Amino acid sequence: MADVNPFESFQEQVDDAAAYLDVDEGMLDRLKNPERILETNLAVEMDDGSIEVFRAYRSQFNGDRGPYKGGIRYHPNVSREEVKALSGWMAYKTATVDIPLGGGKGGIIIDPSDYSESELERVTRAFAKELTPLIGEDRDVPAPDVNTGQREMNWIKDTYETIERTTEPGVITGKDLASGGSEGRVEATGRSTVIAAREAFDYLGEDIADATVAIQGYGNAGWITAKLVEQMGATVVAVSDSSGGIYSEDGFDAVAAKDHKRETGSVVGFHGADEEITNEELLQLDVDLLVPAALENAIDAEIAEGVQADVISEAANGPITPDGDDVLEQKDVLIVPDILANAGGVTVSYFEWVQNRQRFYWDEETVNERLEDIIVEQFDTLVDAYEEHDLPNMRIAAYVVAIERVLTAAEQSGTWP
Ligand code: GLU
Repeated sequence: MADVNPFESFQEQVDDAAAYLDVDEGMLDRLKNPERILETNLAVEMDDGSIEVFRAYRSQFNGDRGPYKGGIRYHPNVSREEVKALSGWMAYKTATVDIPLGGGKGGIIIDPSDYSESELERVTRAFAKELTPLIGEDRDVPAPDVNTGQREMNWIKDTYETIERTTEPGVITGKDLASGGSEGRVEATGRSTVIAAREAFDYLGEDIADATVAIQGYGNAGWITAKLVEQMGATVVAVSDSSGGIYSEDGFDAVAAKDHKRETGSVVGFHGADEEITNEELLQLDVDLLVPAALENAIDAEIAEGVQADVISEAANGPITPDGDDVLEQKDVLIVPDILANAGGVTVSYFEWVQNRQRFYWDEETVNERLEDIIVEQFDTLVDAYEEHDLPNMRIAAYVVAIERVLTAAEQSGTWP
């Protein structure tokens, strides 16, 4: 994995697109930097009575289009720069799918597998206490990200509601159904990743049902992508996680591979596949569709040289470095950028927030249909921008569209004081 500062990558992406727009220097600076960042040190009691301190961040990047919105990540590699980048990507993601939300992101430097459930609950509630003055359904609405899910969202909601002496389920999304979650939220990131990929093949005059697929990362986004792309008739030939990957030329049962990971902690060792491969080998397989669904910087220029896929749909945030992007552009790989491909997660978070505010809940079919409509419509909008302005690639097209939307809102808000 390349050692590239993700915030520098993010700023480069914004600059690349801004070159096609009429934005003055000062405004561009505003569009490239977070409005504010909370940095806090959470002192938490461990099960043995000792105290451990965890550094945590929340970056509120841009609120011109609505409340800050974005997940909270638990990972040992979380850093201030990473959280800043992820919050910027969220601001342009909500703009790409044109939902009335801004962008934010949070993270705690922690490897959750090293801690008991009760320790994780205390760490999460300690962070929720720090977040309470900053969040709220009209202020900033967190959600799950890497290594967090319904359990953590419920703890945060409960802590916030207890301190504030209220019920406000829309303060956070990605909750379980009993706590005000939405149908379809768990599958939403993978769902938009495959819808975006299907549209990309369609654009190339091909059918995703004929595609072979490799997926890097087998957490929520990666594994749901595998399941749904199989349902579309495509063949998943390789998947991986941080321990390594598995490969079968003719495909294997992606659901059974997930069961194996659930039992053993990894897809490696799954008997239904023919071979074991490394993550690097997976990224360079001769497949039609490649889905990076792990972390940032998975595909740098060196890996990109060996990529053989025709289409990449980015389930992860920031999986391709700017240098990697340049190489893939030369090779004519069609990349559906993260800020559209994985936007299903935040789109259904938006639906959850709407349902919470109305105290009126939709069925799964309605959620999935509305999600599909948004991804297809915005994919078409990006293609139009790409063709009309003769842009170099779909990432730049997405940023051109998204920056314009944020810029319009920012200009209308004005600069005060
Ligand atoms: N963490 C997800 C993302 O990166 C979802 C964010 C949300 O639902 O607010 O898009």
